[in-house]
Amino acid sequence: MNVRAQIAMVMNLDKCIGCHTCSVTCKNVWTNRAGAEYMWWNNVETRPGPGYPRQWENQNRYNGGWALDGGRLKLKIEITKNYKPPSMEDYYHPWTYDYEVLFSEKQSDQQPVARPISLIDGESMDVTYGPNWNDDLAGADLILEDPGLDGLQKEIYQQFKDVFMMYLPRICNHCLNPSCLAACPRKAIYKREEDGIVLVDQNRCRGYRYCVAACPYKKVYYNWKTGKSEKCVFCYPRIEAGQPTVCSLTCVGKIRYLGVLLYDADKVLDVAATPEVSQLVKRFIDEVLLDPYDPAVVSVAKESGIPDDWIKAAQRSPVYKMVKKWKVAFPLRPEFRTLPMVFYVPPLSPVVTTFERAYGAKITDIMPKVNELRIPIKYLANMFTGGDTMLIEQALKKLLAVRIYERAKNVAEPGLADKAKVALAEAGLTEADAEEMYRLFAIARYEDRFVIPTNPKRYAANPYVERGVAGLP
Ligand code: SF4
Ligand code: SF4
Repeated sequence: MNVRAQIAMVMNLDKCIGCHTCSVTCKNVWTNRAGAEYMWWNNVETRPGPGYPRQWENQNRYNGGWALDGGRLKLKIEITKNYKPPSMEDYYHPWTYDYEVLFSEKQSDQQPVARPISLIDGESMDVTYGPNWNDDLAGADLILEDPGLDGLQKEIYQQFKDVFMMYLPRICNHCLNPSCLAACPRKAIYKREEDGIVLVDQNRCRGYRYCVAACPYKKVYYNWKTGKSEKCVFCYPRIEAGQPTVCSLTCVGKIRYLGVLLYDADKVLDVAATPEVSQLVKRFIDEVLLDPYDPAVVSVAKESGIPDDWIKAAQRSPVYKMVKKWKVAFPLRPEFRTLPMVFYVPPLSPVVTTFERAYGAKITDIMPKVNELRIPIKYLANMFTGGDTMLIEQALKKLLAVRIYERAKNVAEPGLADKAKVALAEAGLTEADAEEMYRLFAIARYEDRFVIPTNPKRYAANPYVERGVAGLP
């Protein structure tokens, strides 16, 4: 066992309201500069839809991530051969508006119009795509481009009565088996030993862009001004000081959680090469991620030099609880085999009808009227569990059981307390679990959402000491 520690994130999709505050605050802090106009280190997609860049999940188009080659992991891109980074059109041509005309136009019968102009060359342009192009548009034509609908009858979800939508915020996943890092011939990308954050060394990068093609999530970007690649830095100067990332701090829906995960580095490659993807997800959670209360794990962690406050933080970690203890959060697109360290709680409300069958008609009375919004479980499974619908159903059942339990505590409805007991038992939860889940999911206080130990070594030195060499201008 080779125990390492990483700061990881969970996003609870049940609570994302698609406000884009996370994207805007991230942009203001990190990419509000020349060469980075089109970059959104954090973006929020309305799904189903093609996403940003367009169809990023379609690896036939971009060749990102890992594939199995005779049981061994092999990068999907072969450097210099089948290198397919997105084009500017796949992201979008960044623009602003010609606001000056609103002030300088002479008096006339016509309203002056601020036309879109390119942020790159200042020329007038037509807007044809953007990072949130199908924002809030359920059932529009663009959903047919969503690879997550593979295996489903896509056209059905364009019918008014069957449309559904959900939000998917995305950042770099700071993966355990990052294909961006593996593809860099300059070894400019590195994963930090002490907290797992993946960074691009700006002094080593020569702008070859193999990382851009190799990341299946398309979360490395090429800066046309500096000629180097850059990416989400997980707000590492803030993390080192025990502060949450900017996207997490400013999240209006309080959907983001940050905490330490202990993992076994010796298991990473073996698990990433698991042939069956749903088994890969299970092995990732069961074998790679470690129980921070296990005395053997704690002992090896101490021998490896992981500080005591990090081990204590791993035990209090909301990410550990959601991913490993309760198994209600999953990695995005695990079939890319990069072992992402950002996890997602699938949205519950749209699948109420499934649970009505399990618990009886009364459930309808205690749940919001969201039946029309139903997201097919298969769609969520395609996104988070390699198509395994059982894993998603079990997670949703737990979330629903907590709602029933809380409802039973507060509403005097005959028989509801018994139903709550049944729901908890069927979901494999205790009352203590339900209380803790309720506190974490519904109350979501700052100190429960963000359990981030400081990094004494780096913090004491100077959190900004790496400026210029770690993905920053
Ligand atoms: S999400 Fe992409 S850029 Fe981020 S660590 Fe994983 S492979 Fe690299
Ligand atoms: S700030 Fe939070 S709620 Fe708003 S879009 Fe981002 S993740 Fe969703």
